[in-house]
Amino acid sequence: MDLRFTELYPEGWGITFLVEKGLHSTKSPYQRIDVLETKSHGRLLVIDGAVMLTERDEFAYHEMLTHVALFSHPCPEKVLVIGGGDGGAVREIARHSCVKEIALVDIDADVIEVSRRFFPQVASGFNDERVKVLTEDGVEFVKRAEPGSYHVIVVDSTDPVGPAVGLFEKPFFEACFRALTEDGIFVAQSGSPYFQLELVGKSHRTAREVFPQAATYTAQTPSYGGLWSFVVGSKLHDPKRPIRDDETVLKQLKYYNPRVHEAAFALPNYILKATGQIEG
Ligand code: SAM
Repeated sequence: MDLRFTELYPEGWGITFLVEKGLHSTKSPYQRIDVLETKSHGRLLVIDGAVMLTERDEFAYHEMLTHVALFSHPCPEKVLVIGGGDGGAVREIARHSCVKEIALVDIDADVIEVSRRFFPQVASGFNDERVKVLTEDGVEFVKRAEPGSYHVIVVDSTDPVGPAVGLFEKPFFEACFRALTEDGIFVAQSGSPYFQLELVGKSHRTAREVFPQAATYTAQTPSYGGLWSFVVGSKLHDPKRPIRDDETVLKQLKYYNPRVHEAAFALPNYILKATGQIEG
């Protein structure tokens, strides 16, 4: 008999993995965390029943979450990650030698510990000496942050349920705006265009209200049910165009390249409509 794990999306369809065995299961003060060995995708990290990453395709999500903003900034020395306790975003950011400090603020120390233990290749960025890890609520952390402290803020959160709700609200976007330098860039995962289209639209509109420049882009992330969206807000630089050309970083990447960066902002009509960029 095959063992299966299915993440069922709210509309009644989902994604299924054949499971070889369960490796770990905990209930932290914030969420349930499971690690499964799958037949096709290596290890799978699940939080509260939702797929967080698989070893096979996490590169697509983590590269596109981070490098679009980082390559749009001429000198991103100070970077803040909110959420991202698996370490994948930090690993990508640490590839850039111009980055001098990376602060990661995840509310749940257990996610960090589980990732270090079961996903050493994803968590490898935590070993970089530029990385400082804090375990607290990202909403509160950004509210208190010194204005103008970060060149780039990356929000790698769970879906807007439980502790992550505030990370999708306008006051948090505004607090990030204040915490960014005068030429700072904000980027956040903004949900699935297939089963969270309202969230995609809301995130885009909120970013437009807060930042002088805002745009939505997408990437193929099969373990999240197909296409995934990200919203970027920028105070000065055009986030749609890479302005640095760092071959040392580029040659390490499996998904991101400068042409993919620009192409990712070409959106299908249904997303343009949901984000209020065309009428219909
Ligand atoms: N890519 C992922 C996905 O599929 O949604 C996100 C992965 S990452 C593991 C999400 C992290 O956000 C979790 O570790 C969770 O603890 C963290 N998180 C949720 N709410 C948070 C908050 N308010 N402040 C900081 N971290 C938060």
